[in-house]
Amino acid sequence: MITLIVPCYNEQESLPIFYKEVTAVVQKIKSDYELLFINDGSRDDTLTILRSLAKKDSHVTYLSFSRNFGKEAAMYAGFCNARGEYVAVMDADMQDPPSLLPKMLEILESGEYDSVATRRADRKGEPPIRSWFARKFYHIINKISDADIVDGARDFRLMKREMVDAIVSMSEYNRFSKGIFGWIGFRTYWLPYENVERVAGETKWNFWKLFKYAIDGIINFSQAPLSIASWFGIFMTFCSFLLLFGIVIRKAMFGDPVAGWASTVCVIIFIGGIQLFCLGIMGQYIAKTYLETKHRPHFIISETNGEDVKKVK
Ligand code: UDP
Ligand code: MG
Repeated sequence: MITLIVPCYNEQESLPIFYKEVTAVVQKIKSDYELLFINDGSRDDTLTILRSLAKKDSHVTYLSFSRNFGKEAAMYAGFCNARGEYVAVMDADMQDPPSLLPKMLEILESGEYDSVATRRADRKGEPPIRSWFARKFYHIINKISDADIVDGARDFRLMKREMVDAIVSMSEYNRFSKGIFGWIGFRTYWLPYENVERVAGETKWNFWKLFKYAIDGIINFSQAPLSIASWFGIFMTFCSFLLLFGIVIRKAMFGDPVAGWASTVCVIIFIGGIQLFCLGIMGQYIAKTYLETKHRPHFIISETNGEDVKKVK
């Protein structure tokens, strides 16, 4: 059986289109399938649509969250409740073309690979500044962490049961799926495709949200920022020794020249700034640790048509 996990947040316009297209594709595939929709606390008619889809089609299972927990939590709920031997994550907005599924399945069934992942072939149609930041992000995170993350990788991927179990076992609260997929390893085939615009509705990501997501990704998968503080510290101590040395020499040769207060204030502000910056980095890690130690559930399901559903995890 194949399970398609579909996180939905305010997707009332895209859902009917998605359902129609994806059903047409999966019905041609010989194996049984399950459409696992996760309603991530939508405020529009997404849940109503899901209820009626579930009523007329037994392949449809929906899990409805008690509030908006975010796409990461929605995907995790999907992984925890997927019953298929093969599992794929897909967006509801048709940006992950269902037409790729047969090809992905074929590659998996050849036995060479454990998962087939997709990535955008290029970044056409995206503001240049956003592309620049995105490329820098992938460059940095691959340098400083051991999660190997491919530039332009999407969450759309088809994987085998073993991989899904590995993902479920990574129960960390601060989730960054691109990193998790890379971290667990397995043999992955990368399938490039032209980026597609979303069919209806609008994206839930603005630049600032993406930026924070990127910082989260780095903090979740690398300890490198923490060492920035130590490097700054070593560098500043080294500089202060040089300056001290210079001042002693100057004093010995020219007596005591008048010292300006402006330069002193500059130095104080500079060092104060660096200290706050480093403190902030540590704060980020402490905040993550704090959330992690609380062991709060990733999601709470308030309504579902499925059986044996893990409602809280
Ligand atoms: N999504 C979600 N919860 C959220 C935000 C988004 O489940 O809090 C879903 C959304 O319904 C869509 C997918 O995640 O199916 C990707 O979202 P979107 O298309 O807005 O992101 P983009 O494709 O622009 O990166
Ligand atoms: Mg989208």
